[in-house]
Amino acid sequence: MSAAKTVDHDDDPVSVEVVRDARLRSRIHWEWNGNSVRVRAPRGVPQRDLDRHVAEIVEKVRRRRARVRARADQDLEALAQKINRAHFDGEISWHSIRWVGNMRKRLGSCTIGGPTDGDIRISDRIKGWPDWVIAYVVAHELAHRRFPNHSQSFWAYLSRFPGMERARGFVQGVAFQFGEDAEDWL
Ligand SMILES: [Zn+2]
Repeated sequence: MSAAKTVDHDDDPVSVEVVRDARLRSRIHWEWNGNSVRVRAPRGVPQRDLDRHVAEIVEKVRRRRARVRARADQDLEALAQKINRAHFDGEISWHSIRWVGNMRKRLGSCTIGGPTDGDIRISDRIKGWPDWVIAYVVAHELAHRRFPNHSQSFWAYLSRFPGMERARGFVQGVAFQFGEDAEDWL
């Protein structure tokens, strides 16, 4: 019924799971979940057509991935500087801000004190998220430079960032879908 396979293409493997679904009438459905693609196809679709569709889907995924990868560390630095100037009177300082691929749950983190003081890390899980949500995650970590905990003062300070409530709602919605608490993510 279900076959998972990895499509290799220019060292950019895409893991694909193809499922024949009797409930579907004519359309092929697919969803992209980070590293893998799940395709559901009606039983009646000939294998040759299905293979062709899967190849097109993999191409689409590779193009999206390329867009995501184009978000570079220097963009994060520029974004942080812009937010700092526009909303925090330029009063926040940090040492570095970069994308990292090793955060399993958290979307961002910020060190206070110690040898890595001022290192802000943003999870590359959110590289494909909307710009205004990425901006919020950056603003959130910047605000932690002033207020390490989620105190009332922290939220009051972060509310200087205009998109705060909307972006918090977005993060809470995604966390909810995963059965998790957004407070553990950011
Ligand atoms: Zn936080």
